[in-house]
Amino acid sequence: MYNEIKNFLQKELESIKEAGLYKAERIIATPQGAEISLTNGKTVLNFCSNNYLGLSSHPKIIEAAKNALDTHGYGMSSVRFICGTQDNHRTLEEKIARFFGMEDTILYAAAFDANGGVFEPLLTDEDALISDQLNHASIIDGIRLCKAQRFRYKHADMSDLEEQLKQAKNARFKMIVTDGVFSMDGDIAKLNEICDLAEKYDAMVMVDDSHASGFIGKTGRGTHEYHNVMNRVDLISSTLGKALGGAMGGFITAKQEIIDILRQRSRPYLFSNSLSPVIVGAALQVFNMLTETTELRDKLMWNTEYFKEKIQKLGFDIKPTQSAIVAIMLYDAKLSQDLASKLLEEGIYVTGFYYPVVPKGEARIRVQLSAAHEKDHIDKAVAAFEKIGKELGIIK
Ligand SMILES: *Cc1c(COP(=O)(O)O)cnc(C)c1O
Repeated sequence: MYNEIKNFLQKELESIKEAGLYKAERIIATPQGAEISLTNGKTVLNFCSNNYLGLSSHPKIIEAAKNALDTHGYGMSSVRFICGTQDNHRTLEEKIARFFGMEDTILYAAAFDANGGVFEPLLTDEDALISDQLNHASIIDGIRLCKAQRFRYKHADMSDLEEQLKQAKNARFKMIVTDGVFSMDGDIAKLNEICDLAEKYDAMVMVDDSHASGFIGKTGRGTHEYHNVMNRVDLISSTLGKALGGAMGGFITAKQEIIDILRQRSRPYLFSNSLSPVIVGAALQVFNMLTETTELRDKLMWNTEYFKEKIQKLGFDIKPTQSAIVAIMLYDAKLSQDLASKLLEEGIYVTGFYYPVVPKGEARIRVQLSAAHEKDHIDKAVAAFEKIGKELGIIK
């Protein structure tokens, strides 16, 4: 039997390669950080990770992880409601709720699971979900698993959102859901305007702050802080796998009753393992550090502004961004790949994106800044962009 599907899969793989869409993985031989080595021995500066606060290999986080390993063990071998909850899991949930200004938190194995399991327990076919067209894949999948009526508004288009809210007016409960920071452009959702419309049309608001938690807003609480709507958002989903330590894990932090019902009915929570005590212990330390000082997010924001200013001065075209993501527009797919591979030869690791990851004719290189970058790292990256940009005729 396998022979038939084997041939079929081989053809599929060939066609992915022929379309130039085959994803090859570069292998890193060191811990994640600003400077990494690849298995070919080459040392490069990393400008394409979600290690926004430089915590992935931070000595204090490693120490906290080691301590948790000693005090709480390696694995839980259970889901939460059977015998998978330790004191630290609850402490972390409470700490996360306090940090983001919410009432309670529920942990998941990943933000993908959080988004996959959040809608179905809350909404039925009498209800409506109104979703930004560019929301993350995990939100789209979560919506598919839920029977609520679906409405999609054009990216960041508030008049279209209003139109969709009007269309949904007969639904019992309505929920607007949006990414906080959109990962391909780096733009921030207009959460203040979204909250105004939600009030006008009696809808809840959910934001996925995976690319924002820990550093967007003046104390790093996220896009609700950035837009001054900290008490007007009903649910936040986010990941521990980006700025907040970078290991893995996700959560929903929200109103009390929402968290309580998710603990009873959310399938990825009920039927999947508890987070490792090692991750929980390290995450506790992450939130302690971010509560004590905004030093890391301040450095990240400085780094981002510095890079943006230099790269624009060279004549590169960038997308408007308020986050730590800088999309350098090349428009042409091949050019984006050529630039990325020549930059790698110069020791700068960045990734080029093109259709279907971004719209046709909008190929780009996405640069992600980190608090782990020093000024010298950024200067080297800018110099490499200048050299290769001229070589390829992108800038003069
Ligand atoms: C990365 C990301 C996720 C998935 O997070 P994981 O914890 O890695 O599953 C979900 N939503 C958004 C917006 C993301 O950027």
